[in-house]
Parts: sequence; structure tokens; C-alpha cells
Amino acid sequence: MNIGQEILKNLKEEITESEYNRYIKKLVYDVKKSTADEAIYYAPNALVVNWIKNKYAEKIAHLFEVQTHQKVNIKITLKNGVDTQVKTKKVVEVKQGNSLLNPSHSFSNFMVGGSNQFAHAAVKSISEKPGILYNPLFIYGGVGLGKTHLMQAAGNVYQNEGKIVIYTTVEQFLNDFIRHVRNKTMERFQKKYRECDVLLIDDIQFLSNKEGIQEEFFHTFEALKGAGKQIILTADKHPKKIGGLEKRLQSRFEHGLVADIQPPELETKIAIIEKKCEINKVVLSKEIVNYIATVIESNVREIEGILSKLHAYSQLMHIDIDLEFTKNVLKDQMAEKRENLTMDTITKVVAKDLNIKPSEICSKGRSKNIVYARRIAIYICRELTQNTMPQLAQYFGMKDHTAISHTIKKINDLIKDDEDFRVKIEELSNKITTASS
Ligand code: ADP
Ligand code: MG
Repeated sequence: MNIGQEILKNLKEEITESEYNRYIKKLVYDVKKSTADEAIYYAPNALVVNWIKNKYAEKIAHLFEVQTHQKVNIKITLKNGVDTQVKTKKVVEVKQGNSLLNPSHSFSNFMVGGSNQFAHAAVKSISEKPGILYNPLFIYGGVGLGKTHLMQAAGNVYQNEGKIVIYTTVEQFLNDFIRHVRNKTMERFQKKYRECDVLLIDDIQFLSNKEGIQEEFFHTFEALKGAGKQIILTADKHPKKIGGLEKRLQSRFEHGLVADIQPPELETKIAIIEKKCEINKVVLSKEIVNYIATVIESNVREIEGILSKLHAYSQLMHIDIDLEFTKNVLKDQMAEKRENLTMDTITKVVAKDLNIKPSEICSKGRSKNIVYARRIAIYICRELTQNTMPQLAQYFGMKDHTAISHTIKKINDLIKDDEDFRVKIEELSNKITTASS
């Protein structure tokens, strides 16, 4: 046996048998090309390459060092040395940029629980009686809670009945508007939006402070409503809370029915995961489904990311998905999400949003608005980065970790009691994650 294989045998002692059989056994040591300070292994595919690099390369290097008393660089590569980046395909891709509806956004694929029961019932009823019951229907709630899905579920029903459905985001609506203004074809724009049977507009909060488009939107709205055509709108918050909206629009939005969606309870999350598995033909044990449901807080979109990763890995590596494997993938997913995020970025975004200086957040300043900003920044750092409480205490100039845990508890209480505050924190977190990616 050559040294390369021997090292792998030693590694077997340190990891579980299933891990060994899955990944390590597949490695082939290149006796010819390896040198005293570089060990070269070949893996069967790019996924194994990445997996080994992330999880085992360090251990292998350590074992080499113990054996040879020399630092050895471990190179894991494909036989032909091609790109080793792992690329996972999204299981579900929502078509954006045109008014196509995603056919998998159906009522039968939508799991109902206490958190979304009201919104679901409202959408369901208007899908049966468009334009009569609630017009407009306004759905609001946090990110990834199923607003777009629900709205499109109604859209799919209408479309199957042969109705002309337009689904668009405010952004697309605005771009379309600008294009028609530029081409001097406004009549076509107006005709398009006023002659449809159903208008679905997603993410209405982006109308905020855009006067020109609000004016145009108002007339579209009036024309459709006057003709008894159903309008469905979504936003991340209640119409009252969307700043920078013309009064007349705000009152129109509230005129029909306003329904909220809350984060799903554990049971609903489990049902959603099971449904997504069924749709995407992923087989997971009950134990794994429960595990994912407890780890993912609320954003259902994250669940899909995890399932698609699990699916891709298991397919490419020809293995069944077990709990250990799932934990690893989830750990990777969380790390990936947070990798680029620093406390500096978070502090900067929070400071800018609350109109103070970043340095004030980290200062000993005790004025009310500084303390408020500091608490928020600490909370978000705790949520989105891997810094420990003592590290946070040091960065924010707090006494010790108990001061940090005290702050976090305060913010958690506020989030529970105050809807506005929850929205604020969510918005900031979104801003931060987009700023860092
Ligand atoms: P939002 O528009 O509220 O940000 P989406 O409608 O885009 O969220 O939902 C994000 C993902 O989660 C979608 O793939 C959607 O199918 C899924 N999802 C959300 N809620 C549910 C649910 N109750 N049942 C099934 N899938 C859901
Ligand atoms: Mg959406």
C-alpha cells in the first residue's frame, strides 16, 4: 500500500464508516505525480472534490504531517483537472421578467396553516368569483412566506379559464412604463394594462416615492376596478405602513380586503417541506424533514435552496440522504449565506438607515437614538454573523457578553410585540444581505 492510501486508511479511524465509504473510498492517490510536499488525489466528480476539500483535506494534511514529519499540501482534483466548482441547479425557477405565471404555484401545492389561512381563504374565494367579493385583494407579509405563490395560484385558475391575466412586479411595470414613454407608445401601454381581465401586481411597496408611476398606476387601477376586473396586490407591509404613497392610492388599497400572512408554524413548515419533496421527487425521512423545519426559521424560500442542494449532491454522488449528510449541507448553506457579512457592513447599513454615524454605534454614546441603533446592529450581527457574544461585546464597546444577551432579549421582545418593528428589522436585514452579496 502506498502512503497516500495508508493515510486514507488512518482517516477511517477518525470518521464514520458511512462517510468513509461515501467519499474517502472513492479517492485515488497519484503515486507518480505526488511529491514529498504535495499529495495528489483524484476524485470521481466535482462534488466529491469540493466535499473533500471542505471537510477532509485538513484532516488528511494533518495525518500526513504526523506520518512524515513534514508539511504536505493536499491537492484534490478531477482526473482531467477541469473546473471543480460545485454548481447546484435551482429546483424551482420562477420566471421573472415577463408576465408568465409559474404553473407550480397552484392551490394544490400551497400548504395551509394558521399562519396563512386567512389570506388563502380570501384568494381562494376571489379565484372563484373574480371582481365581485374583494377588489382589490391586498396580501402582505414578510419575505418568502408565499405571497407570490398565492397570488399566482389565483392567476393560474383564471388563466385556465381562458382569462387574460397579467402578472407583474412594480419594477417591471415601471420599466414597461418608461419604455413606452420613451417610444411614445403610451396608448399601447394603457391598452395592455386596462384590457386584461385580471391584474396581479407584486411588491407594491416599491411604488413608494415614485410619483410618476403612482399617477399612471392610479388610472390603471380605476379603469380596471370600474370595469369589474379583479386586482390582486402584494407588499411586505400593510398599505398604511407603506410610506411615500399618494393618499388616494393608499385608500384604494385598503378599500377591498387586506389580508396578512404570518411566518409558518412548525407543522406548516413540515407540510411545505413534504410538498416540495413530492414536487421535486426528493425522498427524505421524517426525521430529516423535522430537522430542516426546526432549523429554518421562517423564510420558505430557504427550504427550497436546501432541498435543491440535497437533491443535487445525492444525485451526483449516488447516495441516499441521511441526517448527518443533511446537517453538513445545512451548515454549508448557513456559512455560505453569512460568509461575506461583516459587523462593519451591518453597522454601516444600520447607521445609514437611522441617520447616525457608524462610529457612534460603536461608541459609548448613551443618547436615545444611538442606543436604539446600537441594539439593532447587535441583534442583526448576532442573527447574521457567526460572532460570539464576547466578540460582539468587544466590537460594540459593551461591558461583557451578558450585556449583549440582555440587548438581544430586549429586541426579541420588541419584535414579538410590535409589528412595525418586526418589519423594520426585516427590511434592514434584507438591505444588509443584499449589500454584502
Ligand atoms: P413571497 O412572495 O411571500 O416572498 P413566495 O410566494 O415567493 O414568497 O414563496 C417562496 C417560496 O416558498 C415559493 O417557492 C413558494 O412556493 C414557497 N411557499 C411559501 N409558502 C408556501 C406554502 N404555504 N405552501 C407551499 N409552498 C410555499
Ligand atoms: Mg414575492
